[in-house]
Amino acid sequence: MDNILDIVYEYSINGRILDDTAIEKIISIAKKEFNLNNVHEIERRKSFPITKHSTIAAYNHLDQSIVLYPAAIKRDFLLREYKSKLKTENELNRVEKCFRKNLHMVFIILHELEHANQFMHQSDSSLEMQLVNIELGYIYDIGNTFDCFYGATDIEKLAESFKHYKIYKNNYRISLAERLANANALLKIREMTKKIGSSKLEELYDSLLLTYYMSRYDSKDDSPTKRFFKAIERDHLLTYILIKHEDLSYEDRIKFGLNLTSDEYKANEELVKLKRR
Ligand SMILES: [Zn+2]
Repeated sequence: MDNILDIVYEYSINGRILDDTAIEKIISIAKKEFNLNNVHEIERRKSFPITKHSTIAAYNHLDQSIVLYPAAIKRDFLLREYKSKLKTENELNRVEKCFRKNLHMVFIILHELEHANQFMHQSDSSLEMQLVNIELGYIYDIGNTFDCFYGATDIEKLAESFKHYKIYKNNYRISLAERLANANALLKIREMTKKIGSSKLEELYDSLLLTYYMSRYDSKDDSPTKRFFKAIERDHLLTYILIKHEDLSYEDRIKFGLNLTSDEYKANEELVKLKRR
C-alpha cells in the first residue's frame, strides 16, 4: 500500500484533491496488491447516480467490474464531513483535511476491491471467508451486485436483481460482507496514516474504526453478525462455525461483529462517547 500512499501524499501535501489520473493509478496499484487482475472493467461515471440514496461505487461480480462516481464520492464525503460527530475531524489542519478527503476516496476504492477479493477467495477456509461465504451463498447466488444501484440507465438490471436487492438492502447495515469490506479498508488506511506522521489523522482513523464497529451493536449479546445470520435464517450455521473457532481474540470478535464481554462493550461505549463531540 506504500505506492498508494505516495500518490495520496504527493497530492495532499500540495493541497490537491485526487484527479482521474491519480484515481486510475491507485486502482491499478490496488488491483495488483490484491492480485485482482480479473477485475477488468473500471468505469468512472461523470454524472451523479440519479436517486438521493443511491450508491457512489459498486462492484459487480458477474462481469467483475467496478463502477465509481467520483463526483458523488466527493459530494457524499462533504455531507459526511459536515455531519461528522467526531471531535478529531474538526481538529485537523488544512493539509490534514486534504489528506482526509483523499484517503476517503482511497477507502471507497479499497472497499469495492475488498468485495472483489471476497468473491475471489471463496474457497479459503479462514473464519473470515467462511462467514462471508454463507452470506454470499445465500444472497448472491442468484447473481448480483454489491452496493449497486445503477440509476435509470440500467433499470432492467435493477428489476432483475430486485429480489436480491431487497434482502440485501434490508440487512445492509449488519451485512458481514459490508462490515469486513469496511473494516479491512479502514485498517489499511489506518496503517497508511501511521506513515504520514500526523497523530491527528491516526487518531481519527482509530476513532472511525471503533465508532463504525460499535454502531452496529445493539447490546453486547446481540451482535450484528448474530442478527444478520438470524435475518437470513442461518443462525445454526453461525453456531456451527463458531464451535470450531472458540478462542478468538478481541480484535477478531469486534472485526467480525461477534459477541463482546461486558467489560469490552462498556469500555468501547465509553470511548465512543469521548470521541464524539
Ligand atoms: Zn460494499
